[in-house]
Amino acid sequence: MAGIYIHVPFCSQRCSYCDFYFVTTAKSYAPYMRALQQEIAFLGHTYGSREKIDTIYIGGGTPSLLHGDDVTLILASLAEHFDTSEVTEITFELNPEDYSDEYLRYLKHAGVTRLSIGVQSFFDSDLQFMNRSHRSQESEAVIIAARQCGFDNFSVDLIFGLPDQPTEYWAANLEKAVELGVPHLSTYGLTIEEKTPLHKQIQLGKVVPVRDDEAAELYRFTMTYLQNAGYDHYETSSFSLPSYRSRHNQGYWHHRNYLGFGPSSHSFWWAGLPARRWANVRNLKRWQALLEGRHSPVELREKLDLETLGNEYIMLRIRTSEGLDLAELEHTYGLSLYDERIVELAWLESEGLIRPIRNDLVQLTDDGKLLTDMVTSKLVTG
Ligand code: SF4
Repeated sequence: MAGIYIHVPFCSQRCSYCDFYFVTTAKSYAPYMRALQQEIAFLGHTYGSREKIDTIYIGGGTPSLLHGDDVTLILASLAEHFDTSEVTEITFELNPEDYSDEYLRYLKHAGVTRLSIGVQSFFDSDLQFMNRSHRSQESEAVIIAARQCGFDNFSVDLIFGLPDQPTEYWAANLEKAVELGVPHLSTYGLTIEEKTPLHKQIQLGKVVPVRDDEAAELYRFTMTYLQNAGYDHYETSSFSLPSYRSRHNQGYWHHRNYLGFGPSSHSFWWAGLPARRWANVRNLKRWQALLEGRHSPVELREKLDLETLGNEYIMLRIRTSEGLDLAELEHTYGLSLYDERIVELAWLESEGLIRPIRNDLVQLTDDGKLLTDMVTSKLVTG
């Protein structure tokens, strides 16, 4: 079973920290919709009969800028060119300012099963700092409305580590999400990406980023708070109440095949060695023009050998609560960390960064989760 990701590259304004691919100037979404349908038909011709589709994720950008009819059209087009008869999850990213009861009902009717809501904070001062286009009352209202429209399964994104954000604001954000019964939370530490407005503000000395130790403390607080509230910390940034894990994201962490559509989207296909990964052009007009001219919109192609895949498996799985399965790593990828990294594994355990290995599983402790990159660097080979 494979996953599908649709990138909708439109936003109403630029959030100060964001380095995703998006445009804020589109006058019409019609050329995008035409090109998207062409790309779906194009990839469907090659991959449509190879694997059934299990999950669909419509992300961005801001998919909720699309008209409800466009969402129906995307799903119908996927159903025409792929076997979507056994899809178990269709996630749709929604920004709080775009919701209305009618829109939510339309999404539900179109077949969307899960919402990912870009709340980021319940405080106006935080939202203004990030240049988000919604206000705090919409953050709360959209959650209540989503549930009233029958969306029991939804996720909320929250960002911690904002410069000058009082610590109690972050605690209050978590408290509010728990109080509202949010079944899935994705919590991200603010990262300073190059070429973003935030990066520029920092270079000009207008903003001072939080220190690494402060960010680590906030992350530790988040883990403790949410675990005490009954959430399963099943991946570095992901917390869920029982049975609300993201199936689509779990597909990425399990090296499941996926196809990406839209500018800047990525795809991964492993049906024999080498596995292949490719990325579309990061430019809406160019992506549209290539598809209109019946050319491939792919700009980067990569072939992945078994060792590269094995190292990816280490990087992906160490982030999950399931952990890195050393037996699977050896059996599927031909890498034995018992042979190649036994000293490092013993050291990580002695430092309290991983739990004692049982059933061949390497699992991070909460201390280890604070140092995931360092732990990973000790384990990857080559
Ligand atoms: S809405 Fe999302 S994709 Fe658009 S600028 Fe903000 S963070 Fe980036």
